[in-house]
Parts: sequence; C-alpha cells; structure tokens
Amino acid sequence: MKRHHQRALWSVVGAALIAVGCGADAGGESPAASGMGTAAVSESTVAPADGDASPAPADPESDTGSGPVVHDVGITVFAASDLDPTVAEAIGATLDVAREAWGLRWPLEYWVFGIDPDAAVTLIEEFCTLRDSYRQWDMDQCFAREANDQEPHTLLSYQQLGAEALAMGQPMGSAGLNGSPEWTMHRFASSAPWGLMEEFGLPGDEDLKTVFHEFWHAVQSQHLDADLPRDTRDERMGPVWFVEGSAEYMGQYQRARARADGLLPDVPDGDYPYRFVEQMRWKLDLVDQELAGGCAGRRLMTLVRYDDPCSFLGYEMGAWAIAYLESIAGQGVLLTEFHPNVQELGWQKTFERTAGMTLEEFEDAFHDFIAGPTDARMAVLPDVGGA
Ligand SMILES: [Zn+2]
Repeated sequence: MKRHHQRALWSVVGAALIAVGCGADAGGESPAASGMGTAAVSESTVAPADGDASPAPADPESDTGSGPVVHDVGITVFAASDLDPTVAEAIGATLDVAREAWGLRWPLEYWVFGIDPDAAVTLIEEFCTLRDSYRQWDMDQCFAREANDQEPHTLLSYQQLGAEALAMGQPMGSAGLNGSPEWTMHRFASSAPWGLMEEFGLPGDEDLKTVFHEFWHAVQSQHLDADLPRDTRDERMGPVWFVEGSAEYMGQYQRARARADGLLPDVPDGDYPYRFVEQMRWKLDLVDQELAGGCAGRRLMTLVRYDDPCSFLGYEMGAWAIAYLESIAGQGVLLTEFHPNVQELGWQKTFERTAGMTLEEFEDAFHDFIAGPTDARMAVLPDVGGA
C-alpha cells in the first residue's frame, strides 16, 4: 500500500497518437515485481514514478473497533458529473461482459474522472464518504490525500491529466487498479476516456479494451488470498511481462471476442477501425523495432520491473508471449490452469506447469518464435471474426 507506479507507452495507430501504459499502485503491492494485480494500472504517458497513493488501513481506534466492512460483490461505476451518462453506461456494460467472461469474486468500483476540477472534487468526496462508511479510511484523511493538487498519483491527478491532455491537444490517459486486496475489493480509477467522449478521433473500443485490461488485473488479484503478505502477493503476481502482458493480451482478445459476439455497447467509431489483428500486428512491429533498437538483446524474463526503461516491452512483447503460450498450451489456459493454482503453487511453478516446460525452455521457444517471419507469428492468433 505504499507505492504507485505509472509508466509510459506510446502506441501509434494510424494517425492517432495514443497513450497506453500501466502503472501500479499498490494497496499492498510492490511496484517492482507485482504491478497491477494489487497495483494500479495506468494507461499513461507519464514517466515511471513512485508515490504513496494508497490509504492507510482503517484505524481501529477511530471507530467501533471493527475492521473494514466487506460489502456485497457487485460492480459500481462512479463518474464525474461533467461526463455524459453514456460514458459510465458503456464502461459499466463492458465491466459486466468481463465479469460474465472471467468472474468476479470481490466488489468492484470504477471511478471515472472528466476534466472539470469541481466535478472531480465532488467525486472524490463521494469516494471518501464511501471509504469512511465502510470503515476503510477516515473521510478527512482520505480527502486530504486524494484531493491534494500538489501530490502525484492522487484521484485528483486523473482529472488533472485529462485537463492537461485536452489543453495540450494530446490524447493522454491513465487508468489503474489502485487496490485494495486488504479491503477485499477492487477499486479502479480512470482519467477522461477520450474515445467514449468522441475526442481526438479515438475509437471508443480503445477505451473498452482498457476496461478489459484493467478487469484482468482484478482477475489476477482475486485469485490470491486477500490477506497475503505483500512480498508473497508480489511473487505470486509474477513479473511485469506476465502481469501486463496477460492483461493486455486478454484485454485485446476479450474486447474483440465480445464485440464479435454483439455483447458490447455501441460506442463512437473514431477515425480508424479498432481491430484485434491490427492491434496485435502493431505490437509486433513495436517489438521488432525495439529488439533491433533501444531494447536490443532484451529477453522476456528480464522484464520484471516497472522502473525498467524497457518495461513497456513487458506490455507488448508480454502480450505476444501470452498469445504464444495459448497457442501451445490452449486458449483460455490462464483462466483454467494458471490462476486457479497460483495461490498454492506460486508463480514460477504454476507457469511452468501451465506451459508444460521450464521458464528457460519457454523463453527460448518464445524468442525463436518472435524472431520468425511475421506471417507465422500472426498465424497463432485466434480468430475473432474480424473484430
Ligand atoms: Zn495493466
């Protein structure tokens, strides 16, 4: 519960420049190795940074002595009043699709910020009132922390990022799972989702993919015991390439699958089509470019930390590593084999059992694969009906 990480990853699709990244806050997670599961995930353009973004545990002296209230499992989207209601509706509908596909074990809150500062403060008041009512975090402490315009990685910073992006004419954004396993819940925050707001010509499906990506971090988190010590939780979450690569691949795949199946809401098209195959192809081009350039010589298993200058490869090469894993171990293998066992067996043993080989063997096989011809690489992707 001490750190919050954000990292940057620029994804250029068509003519649009989109910020895609992930940061980790950790309601009990170490940013280094765990990242998102317990940590925050940010689609962001800011440089890696640390900060204390998590609340202190509820003070047992400050109330009746009971611990935090564990509330009913469900999904709630809280959106700033300057956002059109269709934004929260689209996010809520997408979260429901993700729950249907992947399951939800803990209550889930998704807090969406717009660009108006007053609306953001009102939303933070609502957030802190809720924390206080659940005996998780004192109202005043919560508000002093989350509405502070001088501190990084607060809830207010999501509004500030959106306002800054709009002022600069750059479609920056950030979304994250900010905790909190210690409260046996998932809480997300998001800056202005430009595609859903019909800004910058971005497709709304880019934002829906982000929702799936974030939800996968909840999947990772809820398969571990809520009360695991932080170090143990970090180990079981796995390295950055796995935590982020799997969230990104599963997010991409499930968005496409759900779109093809007609499960997702209608959202703005934006200026270019958002399709699984093209997104994965773009990642492949970036991997090729970076392995021949700034991140030459880097191997998959070295991408373990968010503060690594090549950690963005953990998202894109990691997504391809999961695509490759599924091609050899079976589609959906993370949900059916990996996550049900990781709490008991630990990350490495579970991964090796899932892949049917050692980590070293997997890494060698993957690098042989990723060095191969593009047609052969693209051929391992599942058919998503052109979505
Ligand atoms: Zn992520």
